Amino acid sequence: MTLPRQRIAILGGGPGGYEAALVAAQLGADVTVVDSDGLGGACVLTDCVPSKSLIETSNAMTLLNRSSELGIASGGLHTVNAVRLYERITDLARAQSRDITTRIAAENIKVIQGHGRLDGPGTVQAGDQTIKADAILIATGALPRVLPGAEPDGERILTWRQLYDLTELPRELIVVGSGVTGAEFAGAYQALGSRVTLVSSRDRVLPQEDEDAANLIEDVFRRSGMRVLSQSRAHAVSRDRDGVTVTLADGRTVRGSHCLMTVGMVPRTEGCGLDAAGVTVDKHGFIEVDRVSRTSVPGVYAAGDCTGVLMLASVAAMQGRVAMWHALGESVHPIRLNHVAATIFTNPEIATVGVSQRAVDAGEVAARSQTLPLATNPRAKMAGFREGFVKLFTSPGTGVILGGVIVAPRASELILAVAVAMEQRLTAEQLAQTFTVYPSLSGSITETARRLMEFKDLQSRTGRARAPLNARGAPGPGRPAPPARAGAAGTPGCRRRTSRRCPRCRAGTAPAPRCGSTAPRAAAPARRRTAASR
Ligand SMILES: Cc1cc2nc3c(=O)[nH]c(=O)nc-3n(C[C@H](O)[C@H](O)[C@H](O)COP(=O)(O)OP(=O)(O)OC[C@H]3O[C@@H](n4cnc5c(N)ncnc54)[C@H](O)[C@@H]3O)c2cc1C
Repeated sequence: MTLPRQRIAILGGGPGGYEAALVAAQLGADVTVVDSDGLGGACVLTDCVPSKSLIETSNAMTLLNRSSELGIASGGLHTVNAVRLYERITDLARAQSRDITTRIAAENIKVIQGHGRLDGPGTVQAGDQTIKADAILIATGALPRVLPGAEPDGERILTWRQLYDLTELPRELIVVGSGVTGAEFAGAYQALGSRVTLVSSRDRVLPQEDEDAANLIEDVFRRSGMRVLSQSRAHAVSRDRDGVTVTLADGRTVRGSHCLMTVGMVPRTEGCGLDAAGVTVDKHGFIEVDRVSRTSVPGVYAAGDCTGVLMLASVAAMQGRVAMWHALGESVHPIRLNHVAATIFTNPEIATVGVSQRAVDAGEVAARSQTLPLATNPRAKMAGFREGFVKLFTSPGTGVILGGVIVAPRASELILAVAVAMEQRLTAEQLAQTFTVYPSLSGSITETARRLMEFKDLQSRTGRARAPLNARGAPGPGRPAPPARAGAAGTPGCRRRTSRRCPRCRAGTAPAPRCGSTAPRAAAPARRRTAASR
C-alpha cells in the first residue's frame, strides 16, 4: 500500500519559499507555491542580487581609478553610463528569476501567481483557487520601512527598490540610515561618482557591527570624500523640482539631488490571514517561530524576512528547508544562528562568523583574540590593498576557533575558512598548520591562528603536556627528541619503530612490513621547481 503524498502549500517564492519547495519536492511531496511578484522574491528581483551587481560595477570603478598606481596609463576620467548600468542589473535579476522558475518547473512544483492568504485550517486561498495542504509555509518577506514625513516618491526620495528605475546617476545622494544597506549603497554610489552624504543617527556607521571593522569603513568613507553626519537623526525629507532637503532632528538641513531611505524593514504579512488563523506575531509584526520554523499554529511554518530572524537570504533558505524537513518527518537540526556567516559588501568587505567582539567585551563569552592587519600580507601589498584585517577568537584553554572578522576585498569568500574551522571545532593550532597558497590573502588567516597558538592548545589536543618545540621542530631548546612511539604521529595504525621514516605515513621508524597503516604510500618529496620546469 502506498501512502498518499503529503501536500505542501507555500506563500512566497523568495529564498525562504523556493528553497523549501525544492526540498519538499525532493522528499516526494505535492508542492504548490503562491507568489505575487516573481520567483526569487525580493532577494533576486530588487534587493540582494541587484545591489550586489551594482557593487560589482562600483568595485570595478574603484580599481579603474587606481589604475595609474598599478602602472596602467589610462585615457582619462572614467564615468558611469547609468542607463546601461541599471539595464544590466535588471536584466541580470530577471535572468536569475527565470533560472529559478525553470528549476522549480523541472521539479513539478506548481506555481500560482497572485496574492495568497491562510483561509482556515490547512487551507490557502489564492484568488479563486483553494489549496488544501497538510503543512503550510509562510515566506512572504519584508518591505522597506517608511518614515512618516519622508515618504518615497520614486523620483527623488527613493527606497533601494526604486533606484534601478532612474535614468541618471544621482549627482548628490543623501543616504539616510547607516546600517548594512545604507553603508553598502553609500560606498557604492561614492565610488560610482555621486557625491554622497551619509546621515547616521548613531555615533558611527554600522552600529551593530564589529567596532574595529566599522571604524575602518567609516575612515575609508571619509577619505573617499563622503560626508558622514554622525548623531544626526533625519526628521523629514521634502522635495522640490530639482532636489531634496533632509531636515535633521536638531533643525539642520542637508540638500542633495536625491535621497535614499534605508531605515529598516517591516514584515510583509498584511492580508495573509495571520490574525484569523491565530499565528502569533511580535510587537513589530514579525511572525514568531522556533528553531525548526514552527509558528504558534500546528502545521503552519514561517521562514525568512517575515520572521525577522537574521534577515539574510542564506538564513531564509535554511529556515525554509528546516521547516520542510520537520513537516515531512525527516531528522532535522534546529537552526544555529551563531554559525551564520555574513558579509557587508562595502569596499573592503566585512565578513563575520561566530562570536562577536561585543559579546566578548560584555563578558558573555570567554575568548582570546588576535588581530592582524592586512597591510602585512604580501598579496595585499602586490594588489595595493591597504585597509583591512583578520581577527580570530579562540576559546581560552582549548584553543578552539570561536569565530572571526575579516575586513578585506572578497572577505565574503575568505570567511569560509573560519566558518569551517568553527563548524568543525578546529583549534588555532590545526588552522595554523593548514597549508595556504603563497602569496594569498588567506595566508593572513593561518598567520593570525599561528599567533593565537599557545602551549595550552597543544596540551588540550593531545590530552597531555607537550614540550614546546625549538627552531628545528624538536621538543624543548636543544633537547633530543624522544624515540617515536607506536601511533604517536602519522596515520592511524602505523607501528613503525626504527630509525627510517615510514614510506606511508612518514612518521614511525621500523622496517616496512611492520607498518600497519592503510594509508597510500606517501609521495616522493616534490622536486624543486626550476625556471626550466615552467
Ligand atoms: C538591499 C539589500 C541587499 C541585501 N543583500 C543581501 C546579501 O548580500 N546577502 C544576503 O544573504 N541577504 C541579503 N539581503 C537580505 C535578503 O534579500 C533577504 O533576507 C531575503 O530576500 C529574504 O528572503 P524571503 O524569502 O524571506 O523574502 P523575499 O525575498 O522578500 O521573497 C518574498 C516573496 O513573497 C512574495 N509574497 C509576499 N506576500 C505574498 C503573498 N501574500 N502571497 C504570495 N506571495 C507573496 C513576494 O512577492 C516575494 O516574491 C539584502 C537585503 C536588502 C534589502
